[in-house]
Amino acid sequence: MDSASAPLAAAPHRLGSEYVRDQLVARTVDVNGKTYRPDGEYVLYWMQSTHRLEENWGLRAAIRTANRVNLPLVIHQGLDPTYPFAADRHHTMILQGARDTARHAEQSGLHYQFVLRRRRDDDRRVVDRLAARAYVVVTDLFPTAGIRDRVARLAERVTCRVLAIDSVCTVPSGAFTKAEFAARTIRPKIAKLLDHALEPVAEDMPRVPVSEALRASLRATIAEGGGLAPLPLPDMSDEAIAGEVAACEIDHAVGPVTSVPGGTEAGLARLSAFLRDDLPSYAERRNEASDGHGTSGLSPYLHYGMIPSARVVRDARARGVSAESLDAFVQQVTTWRELSFNWCVRTPGFDQLASLPAWVQRTMAEHADDPRPAWYALDALEAGRTDDRLWNAAQHELVTQGIIHNYPRMLWGKTVLLWTTSYEQARAWLFHLNDKYALDGRDPNSVGGIMWCLGLWDRPWGNKPVWGGIRPMVTSRAKLKFDVEGYVARVRGTRLL
Ligand SMILES: Cc1cc2nc3c(=O)[nH]c(=O)nc-3n(C[C@H](O)[C@H](O)[C@H](O)COP(=O)(O)OP(=O)(O)OC[C@H]3O[C@@H](n4cnc5c(N)ncnc54)[C@H](O)[C@@H]3O)c2cc1C
Repeated sequence: MDSASAPLAAAPHRLGSEYVRDQLVARTVDVNGKTYRPDGEYVLYWMQSTHRLEENWGLRAAIRTANRVNLPLVIHQGLDPTYPFAADRHHTMILQGARDTARHAEQSGLHYQFVLRRRRDDDRRVVDRLAARAYVVVTDLFPTAGIRDRVARLAERVTCRVLAIDSVCTVPSGAFTKAEFAARTIRPKIAKLLDHALEPVAEDMPRVPVSEALRASLRATIAEGGGLAPLPLPDMSDEAIAGEVAACEIDHAVGPVTSVPGGTEAGLARLSAFLRDDLPSYAERRNEASDGHGTSGLSPYLHYGMIPSARVVRDARARGVSAESLDAFVQQVTTWRELSFNWCVRTPGFDQLASLPAWVQRTMAEHADDPRPAWYALDALEAGRTDDRLWNAAQHELVTQGIIHNYPRMLWGKTVLLWTTSYEQARAWLFHLNDKYALDGRDPNSVGGIMWCLGLWDRPWGNKPVWGGIRPMVTSRAKLKFDVEGYVARVRGTRLL
């Protein structure tokens, strides 16, 4: 294995524990204010949204705590059939990613266990029972995908402290204590802290091993409520993973995307290919949707935390490309991505219309009754059966490839405002379409992207029917931005799975 893909790879230099402590302070939320359990048997890291071992701040915090109190570390990940839009597509990506994590953990001597609940009525209390034996539960800070609510519920039920830690943002999200007004307000703040946040850290390892006796008792605890057992992931083939997915009580109609395999290894390979082939021309080509290049395709890997954003920025800087391309790319990975995270972490009801600024509320009230130029049922939209070829192509790309290229994605989102009976229907249906099919869906960026279509972080743009002051974008003008015919032809060439 080369050093690029080595788990917990040795960093170029070691930064002292004070640096790590300061970073952790700015990344940690104490979810329940309870105390550490004095007779806890281990520190539990409950992996939820950061599906990797490298540059994982939750894992770093858990290892530091375990070493401070001389306890072993248990890393636990689970997968349920009950999350909204649970389907072969998301399950496959997650399981392939977990296989990488399991292999890396084995190589690094870490204890990692993954429990798959195949049926909806399978035992739901594995984490509760593991937490009941823990000194502290450390988990990921993630405002969407149901994770924040799940953590809050567990934190209430258990008797020990629960800490949630941000591994999403390159600059710790705790550095910004209020919802930022717009990209222009967070950009200079991120710029000021970015170099410091990018410092590589040498990873600590747990000092106290997980004994055979503890391993056996963990298996017993997992099995206690209904016979579940950890999956033997390191040895599983893609076929075995497909077999597990087929056995799950989930939507089998939304199939896997074979061109986007899950895992840290695949994510790092995508990163290398992008940096080599497409980063040099990113500034000029990022809107060009016709050839499937131009942008990185990293959003599914960033969404599942399979690769660290700091690594993406560091490696991009090391390529020595033009300042224009480097800055354009780094702005997406830092400013826009972290603005979305900041919005979701700091805003109550972040995915609801009521959270939008006052001018959007006024515009929506004034234009609520404007006649819409067309209306399509949700299933017509889902099947890409509208009178707009470009929109249909974007929807087809979403359904077949689990993604829409960045520029058509903006048009796709904005157009739905014109085809629904209300702003609320547009909002709800966009979340439905995006989160059901997108491999990067249910992310803070999903919220940022969809709410941006409705005016978030923007200023009023005139006063047009239906749009009111919301920035209009229409598919008929897209040919000024990219080769629309080339895009439609490329996307049409992809099979509906
Ligand atoms: C209606 C709508 C829905 C969206 N839904 C999602 C979603 O579900 N998940 C998602 O990750 N992004 C979403 N976006 C934002 C953006 O379209 C994607 O992040 C981007 O197209 C992903 O492709 P890429 O990785 O090739 O991007 P690149 O251009 O290579 O950018 C690199 C990374 O920067 C981040 N990034 C890029 N553009 C944005 C942006 N506008 N806002 C926030 N972060 C950004 C992403 O993490 C991306 O992977 C949505 C945008 C819109 C308009």
